[in-house]
Amino acid sequence: MRKIHFITFGCQMNKLDSELAAEALADAGHAVVDDESAADTIIFNTCAVRDHAEQRVVSRLAQLVPRRLADPSFRIGIMGCFAEREGGKLLRDLPHLDFAVGTRQFPNLPKAIEELGNAGDREAKPGLFGPDGRDHPGVHQAHARGRHQGLHGFVSVMRGCDNRCSYCVVPDVRGGEISRPAQEIATEVKALAHAGAKEVTLLGQNIDAYGKRSGGSLANLLRLIDLETGATGLLRLRFVTSHPRDITRDLVETVAEIPRVCPHFHMPAQSGSDAVLAAMRRGYSRGEYDEKLAMIREIIPGAGIASDFIVGFPGETEKDYLATRDLTARACFQNSFIFKYSPRPGTPSAEEMEDDVPPEEKKRRNNDLLAVQNAVNAARGAGLVGRRLEALVEGVSSRDERRWTGRSAENHICVFDAPPEGEDWRGRLVGLEVESATPLTLHCRVV
Ligand code: SAH
Ligand code: SF4
Repeated sequence: MRKIHFITFGCQMNKLDSELAAEALADAGHAVVDDESAADTIIFNTCAVRDHAEQRVVSRLAQLVPRRLADPSFRIGIMGCFAEREGGKLLRDLPHLDFAVGTRQFPNLPKAIEELGNAGDREAKPGLFGPDGRDHPGVHQAHARGRHQGLHGFVSVMRGCDNRCSYCVVPDVRGGEISRPAQEIATEVKALAHAGAKEVTLLGQNIDAYGKRSGGSLANLLRLIDLETGATGLLRLRFVTSHPRDITRDLVETVAEIPRVCPHFHMPAQSGSDAVLAAMRRGYSRGEYDEKLAMIREIIPGAGIASDFIVGFPGETEKDYLATRDLTARACFQNSFIFKYSPRPGTPSAEEMEDDVPPEEKKRRNNDLLAVQNAVNAARGAGLVGRRLEALVEGVSSRDERRWTGRSAENHICVFDAPPEGEDWRGRLVGLEVESATPLTLHCRVV
């Protein structure tokens, strides 16, 4: 039996994979510990989307080498996208890495750990990569048994991606798109709700394409989950990430109709320029993106809409960048996640296009776009003063322990006065009125 600690990088999907892997390991008799210093095995769950993420894993791993040298039973492993992309090579090149398990093999982690052998015997270096043929029902069943703790639950409704955005490693490291059966997902959400989750977020790289191949749709899935969880305490349902091309009127209307489904869309634009969107192979133009935005705002005027942007893509001129700036200034995004382009080996943009925007220029565009988004946030926040909204209470604010915090359905971060002594509001919806706003936070009073 090992004492295992996870260090997770990257997206929500990675966090969920760590949770599922932890459950598979617990089933196999291992202890999963929160305290890194109490562990005899550290597993890094890695991200490969940007070079920066990979560098961080390598440097954290190097910090553990003295511990591994001092303790003959200590082992270090990696899982996730970086493991899938480079695991074999990393096992050869990094003498202190003991095992690597790819994105579609993580349910086999207990097997890899078993192969590690005994203390002092460091000959075996298990590496498990590549497809195993299908998604892993066993792992999701473990999840569905509801060992879940906490207010927020996550359920992956599909894995992989069939798009081929020219800059992206996800299709390589996570494989092709597989949607899980709707009923299986609904059962899992229900189990999480019975175990105490108040908000469940459905996850997929391109979630609005859910079920497309089998005649299903995300709208139908939301309806089914809503029906199935009717008698549970589930308060909210969310979903990420939506591809602009696949957002349909039916989906947005369904979000508007079902009270529990939050009016929040993460719909990355990536760029505001037609030339760059075409080079990125995103499958939509700026005009089409603007139409999708307008459709959402028409059906749900107050919806929260968040975007991702890549600045400094190969060939991005100042004029292209200004088109992105213009989109950000006008769209009133809830939030923009801004990334500097990073060429990923094996992707078309890395192989066929020159990374010709200098690093200082990428940085300038990044900072400039952040400033634009901050100004948008400040203006939106000011416009919300006096407005009423409802937040799911998460607990004491990390900044000020006299205040509590929660999120609105549109995904605004709200802070408000602590409940009376002895009352615990976590997991409840509270009515709030906005009193003032900073770019990232709404300061509210309880009504
Ligand atoms: N499936 C999601 C995105 C997954 S990756 C979608 O299509 O929207 C998360 C974000 O990382 C992307 O939206 C993109 O903005 C960024 N990203 C992906 N590859 C990148 C790269 N090579 N360089 C910089 N940013 C990248
Ligand atoms: Fe990557 Fe594009 Fe798929 Fe998103 S939609 S995961 S950016 S290939």
